[in-house]
Amino acid sequence: MIGVFGGTFDPIHYGHLRPALDCLQTLALDAVRFVPLRVAVHRPQPVAPPELRLAMLEAAIAGQTGFVADPRELKREGGSFSFDTLMSLRAELGFQRPLCLLVGGDAFAGFLAWYRPMDILGLAHLVVMGRPGPAPLPGTGLSPELKRLLDDRGCDRRDALAAAPGGRILCQPVTSLDISSTRIRDLIGQGLSPRYLLPDPVLGLIEEAGLYR
Ligand code: ATP
Repeated sequence: MIGVFGGTFDPIHYGHLRPALDCLQTLALDAVRFVPLRVAVHRPQPVAPPELRLAMLEAAIAGQTGFVADPRELKREGGSFSFDTLMSLRAELGFQRPLCLLVGGDAFAGFLAWYRPMDILGLAHLVVMGRPGPAPLPGTGLSPELKRLLDDRGCDRRDALAAAPGGRILCQPVTSLDISSTRIRDLIGQGLSPRYLLPDPVLGLIEEAGLYR
């Protein structure tokens, strides 16, 4: 099983890295592919340019077995749709191997507004990582449609994911870290240090490039 973790990663921080490692280990994934988006479709555009977000990602995951930087969305023109990314992964990996799209609880809350959500579920499982803050945790504060989808597709065991290439939704408890890229950018913007919220090599790249000031 392969995890696919998409995001702006503007910048990548421990709130991405630790939950991804929790999923890698708990679900015994073969790999987690971090896929930075190029053009956001559901949120404001990233501040840092693609090549720097990729460099920060590579610095953050260096040496971690199973963590892979996957630049396919950065190479694609136009909006970065998860559906297109999963299609391109399927073209590479075939249609049999289980794929698990890792999403935070806040991202999952908007899932039905994504481009072709049911086709996404046809291509991959969803693993919803509990995220701190006001974002709805799975089962609470979700729209009736999303609750219905969770009732229909929800599962609570890794085996259910391993048994099919996609189609199931698993709510995975992960380490709760109240860290966001927005907070890191804000701290830097105020001339304050974001140290200990993200890996030092990532902070080094931010300082070198004068990002987020
Ligand atoms: P921003 O503050 O700029 O919106 P972000 O910190 O939310 O950024 P993204 O790159 O947009 O980071 O998030 C990518 C994915 O990681 C999303 O699915 C998001 O829900 C998840 N995520 C981000 N931060 C955390 C966290 N602290 N805990 C769990 N999941 C997280």
